Amino acid sequence: MKHYAVIGSPIGHTMSPFIHNRLFDINSIKADYTAIEVSSQDLNTKFNTVLNKLDGFNVTIPNKQFIIPLLDDIDACAKLYGSVNTVKNTNGHFSGYTTDADGFVMALQSEQIRLDGSVIILGCGGVARVMAYECIKRGASITFAVRNQSMDKCRALCNDIRQNFATASVQVCDINTITVGADLLVNATPIGMHPNIDLCPVNDTVISRCGAVFDAIYNPLDTVLLQKARANGSVVCNGMSMLVYQAAKAQTIWEGVTFDKAEIDYICRLASAELANK
Ligand code: NAP
Repeated sequence: MKHYAVIGSPIGHTMSPFIHNRLFDINSIKADYTAIEVSSQDLNTKFNTVLNKLDGFNVTIPNKQFIIPLLDDIDACAKLYGSVNTVKNTNGHFSGYTTDADGFVMALQSEQIRLDGSVIILGCGGVARVMAYECIKRGASITFAVRNQSMDKCRALCNDIRQNFATASVQVCDINTITVGADLLVNATPIGMHPNIDLCPVNDTVISRCGAVFDAIYNPLDTVLLQKARANGSVVCNGMSMLVYQAAKAQTIWEGVTFDKAEIDYICRLASAELANK
């Protein structure tokens, strides 16, 4: 029996145990997966007493950066994003990875949404950074749309991107006065997330100018943004598939297993029903 977990704080509402245990079932892997409350203050102690006995674990807020100095190595993608969400224990050697990028790319590709055109990204936090890099790598031009207080932080992110990709096309605008349209609009803010489910991060005019819309939010599954985009005839994708694809990638790292689209779609349906029950 192998032992895996997700660590974070607060960890009460995480969907990860539900998703991972069903992914293990698909490949008949004998493993359990639990949620462990670990604050950033507890991380060091818990790493040396609890986490070091696991075969692997996922890392969520607030520990994605704090875990890095405790690991023996991290892969190139985790280095680029300065963030680790998956740890593998190989006989006491702890390696860190990030699977958020794969989750994002595979979720969109599974809906035939292209990442290489013009992209508006709402927000400039952790997941926006990953999404921007993944689109830039594929030749996209990015417009970050952020609130006024995030402007400086966002300009720093743009400079960071240009350091890594000298020819990258990145610009910043105010989220309340977006004048451009795009092939793809991505919501990487919590606007519209439970319990504020009536909120929409952009107005109808902006939505009408975008060919495809991805919302990283998975609770609710169908945000106001996605409802409006669908009504507008846009291709839409919700955050649940990103969540499941990034979990599937973690199992590839731990157990070497892979999943086809039908299996991912099946887990998305189960997880969506579980979320609705909650
Ligand atoms: P984060 O690092 O906290 O970044 C959030 C971003 O949203 C920041 O740029 C923040 O601006 C901005 N923001 C927050 N409230 C805003 C408001 N009222 N108006 C305008 N901008 C606002 O969070 P994250 O980790 O990137 O996550 C972002 C979203 O993606 C969350 O909803 C999260 O649940 C979701 N997510 C989904 C998945 C998945 O697998 N589906 C994975 C990761 C994250 P400031 O910089 O000014 O604070």
